[in-house]
Amino acid sequence: MARVGVFVCWCGSNIARTVDVQRVAEEAGRIPGVVFATDYKYMCSEPGQTMVRDAIRDHRLDRVVVASCSPRLHEPTFQRCISEAGLNPYMVEMANIREHCSWVHQDKDAATEKAIDLVRMAVAKARRDFPLFRNEIPITKRALVIGGGVAGIQAALDIADAGYPVTLVERTPSIGGRMAQYDKTFPTLDCAACILTPKMVDCASHPNITILTYAEVEEVTGFVGNFNIRIRKKARGVDMEKCTGCGVCYSKCPVKVPNEFEEGMGERRAIYVPFPQAVPNVPVIDREHCRLNNDLKCGVCQKLCPTGAIAYDQQDEVVTEQFGAIVVATGFRMWDHSQIGEYGYGSIPDVISGLQFERLMNASGPTEGKIVRPSDHRPPKTVVFVACVGSRSENHGHEYCSKVCCMYTAKHALLLKEKYPDTQSYVFYMDIRANGKGYEEFVRRTIEEYGANYIRGRVSRIYRHGDKVVVKGADTLLGRPVEIEADMVVLATAMEPQEDAKDLARKLGISTDQHNWFSEAHPKLKPVEVLSSGIFLAGACQYPKDIPDTVAQASGAASKVAGLFSKPHLLSEPMIASVREEDCAACGQCVQVCPFSAIELVELNGKNGASRRAARVNEGLCHGCGTCVAGCRGSCIDLRGFTNAQVLSEIDALALA
Ligand SMILES: Cc1cc2nc3c(=O)[nH]c(=O)nc-3n(C[C@H](O)[C@H](O)[C@H](O)COP(=O)(O)OP(=O)(O)OC[C@H]3O[C@@H](n4cnc5c(N)ncnc54)[C@H](O)[C@@H]3O)c2cc1C
Repeated sequence: MARVGVFVCWCGSNIARTVDVQRVAEEAGRIPGVVFATDYKYMCSEPGQTMVRDAIRDHRLDRVVVASCSPRLHEPTFQRCISEAGLNPYMVEMANIREHCSWVHQDKDAATEKAIDLVRMAVAKARRDFPLFRNEIPITKRALVIGGGVAGIQAALDIADAGYPVTLVERTPSIGGRMAQYDKTFPTLDCAACILTPKMVDCASHPNITILTYAEVEEVTGFVGNFNIRIRKKARGVDMEKCTGCGVCYSKCPVKVPNEFEEGMGERRAIYVPFPQAVPNVPVIDREHCRLNNDLKCGVCQKLCPTGAIAYDQQDEVVTEQFGAIVVATGFRMWDHSQIGEYGYGSIPDVISGLQFERLMNASGPTEGKIVRPSDHRPPKTVVFVACVGSRSENHGHEYCSKVCCMYTAKHALLLKEKYPDTQSYVFYMDIRANGKGYEEFVRRTIEEYGANYIRGRVSRIYRHGDKVVVKGADTLLGRPVEIEADMVVLATAMEPQEDAKDLARKLGISTDQHNWFSEAHPKLKPVEVLSSGIFLAGACQYPKDIPDTVAQASGAASKVAGLFSKPHLLSEPMIASVREEDCAACGQCVQVCPFSAIELVELNGKNGASRRAARVNEGLCHGCGTCVAGCRGSCIDLRGFTNAQVLSEIDALALA
């Protein structure tokens, strides 16, 4: 016969003001199986916990019910407390008489009755509690970082500096991400390359970091501490060991194609290095455009390469490696704003995107830093910047604010004036969102010192008139229409999740929000974790972010990884699903409903050599959510610590009260 002790907490006056705690303790003492019941001001305090431990010893209690606050707050406290007194930590139940009674009711009598009911239910469950045990899970102390933008670079460096090996997988030929395309960065106007390149080089030379560029994650299996990850290293067509980065190959390649890094404004060759500071500084052959791959005569690069590094026949290599933790840092892409036909992008050459403007400003860009009109290569005199192009717009599928456009538009207007003092810029905006350190002051400087003319209002149409681009809109502050004849228009388009974000989320078993940004476990308290253990988020793959926020989150993710790796091993959570394999009909329903891919059908060797299938739970992956229990047609899955018998006994206790 179980010997249950009930401990009713006042929580100061938090509970005692609305619940008659003494009466709850008296009633608890009358419940069958309860051999001791008391109340105390602060059960979680040291004297309160001593009271629990003493009662376990004096009354030979083998189960404990604490009627106090939410188990989310103090269940671990009381689990520790009773295990110090020699009980299995899972022999404690908590009746939440604070959040469920005193904080939500005013009628003291009714709240007290409800508290008694909750205690009665907890006792019924406690009587059916049984010891649960955690297993030790080994950890592979090696991290995978997916995405080599500033987020991935920072996360990799921090994990590596903490002493753990990291593999950084980037799908383009170089690490660097978007930041590598920028000229200067708001709000301090540091030269982007000057602050990013040293980090890229540090990454490449760090003894704990392996960089795999031109590579992608294909499959992820396993669980926290033990992920098995298949990575495809795409054939570069150049032997990385032999290449010295001399550049002869691409200087002589006869094929010219639009340059993605220059946002289509310059050309690159079919064998190319994406940008001068690329890491690694090893070219890649673009097989789609290489003459040799299109059955045309060529082979110039191979003939000229002084080290014999060109390897046309190189094949993709697929490797499977084990990692203990994953940081996802895959960043964002820009919305294709040619969809807004009335803004003329794609049809009017002098309507360009913010990213194209970055490349025009950049000394290593297609115009060597000269800001000129794409149509006639003349410097513009009047430039109109349009913020919120597609952002904060339900019509265009982005209800959210892209967060950085107000700031980079201000940066563009300021730098334009700095380079060409006789230009005039106009900025159409909806609201100015400048919420970062030094941001408000930066926008003010752009307006007051650099003379940018800010117009609050939407642009309705952009069209060509002779060699000018006419911007029509409304000034909503003055309440009048505006029409500006510009030489160039720069659109600050919405940031979007990567096109394959959903696909990567599926591979990783993590979730995305309605826009396909990766979802964090909790928006306030777990901003870098996801619901699957061992996977962390960094940077703009979660939501639009500027560089300071990106770097902060990347360091946060890295510290989570280091925290995980600092443990000798992991302890499995025992409150997980378990299948009675002998009763399982292998219908597979549980496999389908499990949100964590924690269940698989396995072959069982039966008697007389006969084999049959049954569902089996992977203890490392199961989160104990109970979805499979509800989904099992044969009722042969139970959640340890919340078995059907335990839950039904609680309901009976309430029904029979
Ligand atoms: C025009 C413009 C100007 C800006 N100017 C500033 C500024 O001045 N100051 C500032 O603070 N912020 C600025 N920002 C914001 C800044 O770009 C972001 O904060 C920053 O780039 C986020 O870094 P990230 O590493 O998260 O993403 P990214 O820079 O997008 O990097 C992600 C990386 O992951 C790689 N990747 C994607 N998918 C995969 C995959 N499946 N597998 C492997 N690799 C993958 C990508 O190729 C890329 O290299 C600007 C943004 C824009 C659009």
